Amino acid sequence: MFRLTSETGLPMLRSSLLDELPGVWHGFTTRIGGVSAGSFAFLNLSLNVGDSPDAVLQNRSLLARSAGISPEMVTLQAQQHGSDVVLCDSVSPEAARRADAFIATREAIPVLVGTADCLPVLLASEDGRIVASIHAGWKGVLAEVIPRTVTAMQTVSGARPESMRAAIGPHIRACCFEVGDDVAHQFRKEHVVAPHARGGKSYVDLSAVAVCQLADSGIAAKNIDISSTCTVCRHDLFFSHRANGGTTGRTVAMIMRRR
Ligand SMILES: [Zn+2]
Repeated sequence: MFRLTSETGLPMLRSSLLDELPGVWHGFTTRIGGVSAGSFAFLNLSLNVGDSPDAVLQNRSLLARSAGISPEMVTLQAQQHGSDVVLCDSVSPEAARRADAFIATREAIPVLVGTADCLPVLLASEDGRIVASIHAGWKGVLAEVIPRTVTAMQTVSGARPESMRAAIGPHIRACCFEVGDDVAHQFRKEHVVAPHARGGKSYVDLSAVAVCQLADSGIAAKNIDISSTCTVCRHDLFFSHRANGGTTGRTVAMIMRRR
């Protein structure tokens, strides 16, 4: 279950499944609480969408303060809609560029992804020793970035999927994710969760596919939390690429081991 809380100063959504884990900090930001204006109002955390860099850096400082880390730890990589997974323990943020999934086993190393409609997925082992964040749009879902991350977590730390938890944050849900014939065909071909038709159009339920992938990877259904919020329907509260015609900010999903 997700709840909206401002207990660390910034409004954020938190998953009860991840909140229970020892030594793990996590949060999904909203649009609320930052200093950006116009299409980026208010808490845009991406430097690559046309917002004022000063505003973004101020916003990142607000998130850093809320997480108890230094502002330069809040960085977003160039996400590729691919399936590469990067272990962030020993590489500089610069070297970790061009990936969509990030893992950390060291304390106080946050891993974060930015989204505006895509799925933000946070993962952690139940002992809190390994954490991951994933950016998965429809391309990333088809490229299996989510199962690849679970496998990488297992390889890196020996954590078993049976003892992992996952939280899928706000994203474009099946109510709004209309796709063209080509994308619908790819989902029909690759996945058990087929697109559904409505008014002659096809709609894909990305989180249903993601849940199947997590379950196939060995994560129990009771250990998967899914936000019911659609970023398109609630673009007052979340950035939405689709609802805002492409020019919009990015919210962040972030997780780390506490020091
Ligand atoms: Zn919707």
